[in-house]
Formats: sequence, C-alpha cells, structure tokens
Amino acid sequence: GGGGDAAADAALPPIVRGSDPATASNWHVWRATHYEWDARIDPRDGARKLSATAQVSLVRGDGFDGASAAERAVVVLDAHEAVAVESVALAPAGADGSDAAAAAVAFEVAPFTAFGTALRVTLPEGAAAADSIKLVVVYAVGAGGPAVTWLGAAQTAGKTLPYCYSIGQAVCNRGLLPCQDTPAFRVTFAARLCVPAPLVALLACDGFPAVGDDGRPEARAVEVGGEPWLEYSFVMSHSVPVYLLAMAVGDLASARIGPRSRVWTEPAGLAAAAAEFGEGEIVEKYLAAGERLFGEYSWSRYDLLVMPPAFAYGGMENPCLTFVTPALVAGDQSLCDVVAHEITHSWFGNLVTNASWSEFFLNEGFTMYGQRRILTEVHGEAFTALETTTGRALLAAAMEETEPLLQRLRVPMAPGLDPDDTYNEVPYEKGFAFVSWLRDTAGCTAEEFDAKFLRAYVAAHAFSCVMSEDMLAAWWAAFPHLEARRAELQPQIDVWLNGGGMPSFWPDCSAGAALTAPAEALLGRWLADASTADADGAAWAALITYAKLHLLDKLLEKGEADGAGAALLSALDAAYGLSTSRNAEIRLRWSLAVAKHALEGASGYDSVVAFVRSTGKQKYVVPVMRALAGGGERGKAVARTAFGEASDGWQDNIKARVRGVIGDA
Ligand SMILES: [Zn+2]
Repeated sequence: GGGGDAAADAALPPIVRGSDPATASNWHVWRATHYEWDARIDPRDGARKLSATAQVSLVRGDGFDGASAAERAVVVLDAHEAVAVESVALAPAGADGSDAAAAAVAFEVAPFTAFGTALRVTLPEGAAAADSIKLVVVYAVGAGGPAVTWLGAAQTAGKTLPYCYSIGQAVCNRGLLPCQDTPAFRVTFAARLCVPAPLVALLACDGFPAVGDDGRPEARAVEVGGEPWLEYSFVMSHSVPVYLLAMAVGDLASARIGPRSRVWTEPAGLAAAAAEFGEGEIVEKYLAAGERLFGEYSWSRYDLLVMPPAFAYGGMENPCLTFVTPALVAGDQSLCDVVAHEITHSWFGNLVTNASWSEFFLNEGFTMYGQRRILTEVHGEAFTALETTTGRALLAAAMEETEPLLQRLRVPMAPGLDPDDTYNEVPYEKGFAFVSWLRDTAGCTAEEFDAKFLRAYVAAHAFSCVMSEDMLAAWWAAFPHLEARRAELQPQIDVWLNGGGMPSFWPDCSAGAALTAPAEALLGRWLADASTADADGAAWAALITYAKLHLLDKLLEKGEADGAGAALLSALDAAYGLSTSRNAEIRLRWSLAVAKHALEGASGYDSVVAFVRSTGKQKYVVPVMRALAGGGERGKAVARTAFGEASDGWQDNIKARVRGVIGDA
C-alpha cells in the first residue's frame, strides 16, 4: 500500500514521544539514572548461572509532579521469567553503595507480556516523597532467558573452556538485570563481574581495567566457595540506552590493532584476528573517516570482540566493544568492511539513539547511509556502489516476505508486540534510501549533506534519544531553501515514513558496473565453454571479493538449461578452490550451489557439512540447511547428517530454528 490512508491509520497504535508499550516500567514517575551491577557469572556446565545485585539509582521522572500518591509509592522495573528476584531493599539516601543498611521493601512480580514481567516495588512513605532513591535488587538468572547465551566448551574456538555473552537489543536486557528497559532515555553504569579463574570477563564500556602484557585485563583474585575466582571492574561514564549494556565471559585475550583499539578473542584465534583487523590499521581508517564525516568519536576506546564460532549474529555495536562474528576473519581483510557498519553506530544509534523501537530506522537507516559514506572514503565509489546494489537486492527479496505494517519506516507497535519480532531489512535499506532521498531532495553533494545536516544533527542530539520529528527538524533547519517547498515535500515525507512497499528513490549505483561487468563476463565464459573460460585463474584473481560474490550470486540464478550444473561446479571448484575457501561468504554461496545441483563428494556435499560444522551464524546455517532439505531425498539425507554432526556447535535458538526449517527431513 502507498500509505496515507488516514482512516485506517487512525486505528493503529500511535507513535508518540514518551510512549513505549514494550516496557512495563513507570519511568515517567521514577526514572533510572545509574546501575551498579555486581554479578557472579558461572558459565560452566552444570552451573550456567548468574547471581547478582543490581543497585538502581532513580530520580523523579517528568510525570512525578502529576502523579498520585499511590503512583509515586511504586517503582516498576522490567524483568523476565528467567530472572528470579530474591529480595529488594531501599538503600538509605546518600548511601555509598554498601547495602548493609538497606531496608527490605515489599515487591511482587506481575505478568506483563510474553517477553517480560513487571517487578513492582512498593516504597515506604518517606521514600515516595524523596528526590532520588536507590533500590538494591538481589536476583539470579539461569538458562533459558533472552539476554544471556551460554556456550559449552565444544561451541568455542578453543574447545576447553565455556563461554557466555549477553546482547540487550532490543528488549532482552530485562533478562540480564531488573531495569527500565526502554531506549527512550539514557543511563550510566558500573559493574563488577566475578568469574571462575582463569576466565576473563568483559563489559562494553570506556572505563576498562588496565591490560597486561599477556593481553588480559587486570583482575582481583577472590575466593568463591573455596575456588579461585577473578573479579573485573568496569565503569561506563558515557550515557547510553540500557540495551547497550553487554558482557562476555570466556578464555579471552587481546592484541593492539590501532592507537585506540584492541581486538579480543580466544587465544586460539588471536593471531589471525589481530592480522585481519590490524593490518594497515584498517579499523583506525574507518574511525578516522567517521570523524571527518560526522564529528568527533565520543567513546574514547574502540575495541572488537571476535566471538566464538557458535555466535549466531553478524555483529552488535556494543559501545567501545563491538561484538563480531568470526566469519569476518577471512585471512585477506576482504570482509572487514562489515566493521564499518558497527563503527558508524558510534554516531547513529549509540550517540543519537532512536527513542522508540517504532523508529529503528533512525539507528539502522542512518548507519547504513553513514557506513556507505565511510566505505566510499576508504574503499572508493565502485566498491560502495556494488555493496549498495547488493543491499537493494536484499531489500527487494525481503519485502516480499514482510507484512505491510513492517514495510513502514515508522512501525506501529501494539501492546504485547515484541519489538524483536519486527526485525527485518526495512529499517536498514529503506531507511538508507530515505536518507539518500533527503540528500537528493536537498540538492546537494554527499559532502555538503554531511557538513550541513548530518554533523549538525549529531552535534545537536549527541547523547540523546530522538524521534523522527527531531531528525526532520534538523533537516529543515539545515536547508532553509526547502522551506518554500514544504507543502509539496511534507506529504512525500509522510509516505516515506508511513507507507509500505519498496522505496521510491534509490541513489545512482552505476559506478558498481566497473566491478560487476567483468564478473558477469567471466561467468558468461564459464557457461559457454568451461574448458577455455579462465585457464590460469587470472580473471578470477583480478576480481575483488564482492565481485566474486556477485558472480556466484548470478551463478545461483542459472539452471541446467543455462549450462549450470554439477559438471560446471566441479570445474569451477577445480579452478578456484571454492569448496575450501576461508571466506565464509564464498562458502555460503558455494554451499547453496552444491545443494541446488546435488554435487556429490569432497568438494560437494562433504564441503557443505564441513561448512555448517565450522559456523553457527544464522545467516549461513539457516539458508544452507533449508537448501539441503529442499534438495530431494539425497539432499534431505545430507541435511540429517549435517544436523547430527554440526548442531552441537550452534546456539540453542539456531538449533530450534533449523529443526523448524528442515522439519522431519
Ligand atoms: Zn546496525
């Protein structure tokens, strides 16, 4: 639909500042400002438990004055079924953090939604009239919650020690600690994480322990239950929305990769990761480009945490410490550009944050736009145009499977809807198209758009949470000459924000042809006559990785009638070694081609099984397993074998997802 159907839209949940149906908290009455989090985390088999104290500092919210006495006497925090609350106490005013003198207060856990519960704390009379209060919540988190993923040793790179990590986006941190789980405002935090020796705990923050010569952070040795444990201390001094609180625990060490950057990972993969992200200080190049384009980098340090093979996602922009898939470690820096996306969140998302999950495009659409500005600076226009064209194809494919309301940039969210269930490509690529349209409509170059609008928007709203009207106000202010066209442009903006379907504008990507044309020509030669296509492999070697991926994508569109088939795949593999490539994006496409053409043997099905054994990343595992299961009786048998051999290395949620995809194959 084109949007703009006012009568139908009137029946949808409104998207207004200060309203977040996904939080149970009463943050307008009492608003959290700071969390002190003291957690013992034991990821070992048989334990898998986090026991913690969360001290939540709260001040009067913007609705306190208008609230009744009964409303002021309650603090509601978001929690989750997986969070077992043991006690809640009220720390005396001005308490230094010691909970010795805290007085127990009454609390109850009430149902809220499928993705969380409401922890209702009753305040005594004096506290309800205070300017600020501090609650001390003692609780434990076991397996099964939405925030913490527990990995056994077999799911790690080193295979000897267990691992766990948390990701808060969008509304998962209520499963990590009782909190006001909304992106509408910002908090600071401090944490002490205590783990069994020799495990290392990390927290995404700027106030980090000193790192020793062995690449490990300094810790305090403590004894827990007669065992040696290590306690690590962290401070986040910059304010962030609470979804950006994230930790990881594992056998972790680090190496320097730039003047303000280290890479962290398991020792088994550290040398490779340090080479991948340290060579030519590529991470620093992206950071420096971002600073030139969007203004200063506000987070002091920028580290990368390369996750274990089971990590199901591509990356998460946790501040100061981006979590990334190990699939980026390709051996030749060919997938490093993915880091530019996470770095761009240092301005869009982490610094200027969507105040409502209904407007996730303010995080992701602006980050896609900013990422492509950085890529243009560092890798050139042709590279970026090709990457952008890939994004449009991804959006077109996703749009067909996206329900109409989720095709909007502003997504109406009814009470009870889990924001994580609305996740799709639209906020990313349609959001990118919208920002590109804002530039095109302003009639300026990309450089002028950065200088006049993006930098001013970031500067005006740094460390704030914004709605789309804030962003648009900055845009109108940046381009006063558009004022005369407001009556004409405003309805177009409304369609962008509230309409469905593919974007009506996409920037010119013709520069990408310089890279795609040789790739398509090479594929044409293979389809015409495999024996003479690329005898010495020079034509393939001359392609950059994204052009190679483009060739393989085009190959996947071809059938037997075009000359594609098992014989051609064998010839391609003999020439280019696709079945043993270290590049996971090549292996993904190779695996899909093998499944499609039922190629047997070491370079065929065996290499596919090896691939899904090597990774637990959702973007790879799910489509490959789906393709196998869709490939007749033989494909189904291979899918069963692959599931049996590989699924112990995947996260539980991916295992379940694949089981659903392959059915009773
Ligand atoms: Zn992102």
